[in-house]
Amino acid sequence: MGTCAICGKSGWFLSLPGGVCRECLPGVENKFSEIQSDLKVAHRAIRRVRTLDTRVGYFEDVLRLYEEAAGYAKRGVEIRPVDPETGKPLNCSWEEAIQQQRKAMDEHISEEILEDVQKALAAAKVATSSKKQSAIIHKMLLRIDSFRERMAEPSMLDEAESMITPMLDDE
Ligand SMILES: [Zn+2]
Repeated sequence: MGTCAICGKSGWFLSLPGGVCRECLPGVENKFSEIQSDLKVAHRAIRRVRTLDTRVGYFEDVLRLYEEAAGYAKRGVEIRPVDPETGKPLNCSWEEAIQQQRKAMDEHISEEILEDVQKALAAAKVATSSKKQSAIIHKMLLRIDSFRERMAEPSMLDEAESMITPMLDDE
């Protein structure tokens, strides 16, 4: 006997394509095509937008959409993780797909923060006063902290932070 993953209706003769009854199917299909097109938008924006803050926001959109779809899978709807760009099914579980996205986001943040730290160090070195120098360093440390809060592995920013903290001892 089959039970619809959405409305819970069950019966011996209930046709359940993808784990969903005929009445619920159009709604579920609409929802998934909406998720798919939102995924595509977010994924493209990640490559297009300039500021790290905005880009991380789009990474978080991808994660939220993955988690939303994974929620349907958990209820018994047959839906596979898809590539955010092509929409093609990925050969992994939802859990793995979410982990991969989190990892990609963390790597992206740590790479860019490392570049920012190098720029901040260069700017601090040519700062005209120790007050200005200290302001640059503190601003960078705050920036590192604000991204740590959004990461699965915040320790990935330790290296970048350790490059800049010695500058504080010079004050
Ligand atoms: Zn149903």
